[in-house]
Amino acid sequence: MSTELECPICDAEIPLEGTEKPGDLVLCSYCKVTFKIISTKDKWILSDDFEE
Ligand SMILES: [Zn+2]
Repeated sequence: MSTELECPICDAEIPLEGTEKPGDLVLCSYCKVTFKIISTKDKWILSDDFEE
C-alpha cells in the first residue's frame, strides 16, 4: 500500500504515518483541509465528502 495520498484540491502529496485506515481523517498541511480516506479497488483516495 502506498504511504502517500494525493490531495484532491492542491495535488500535494500527503504522507501517512502508516497506521491510517479507510475512514480515518487526514489533514492536508498545504490547503488546511481535512479529508477522509476512502478505500477503492486498488488504492486509497481522499474525499472531502463526509456524507455516508
Ligand atoms: Zn491540499
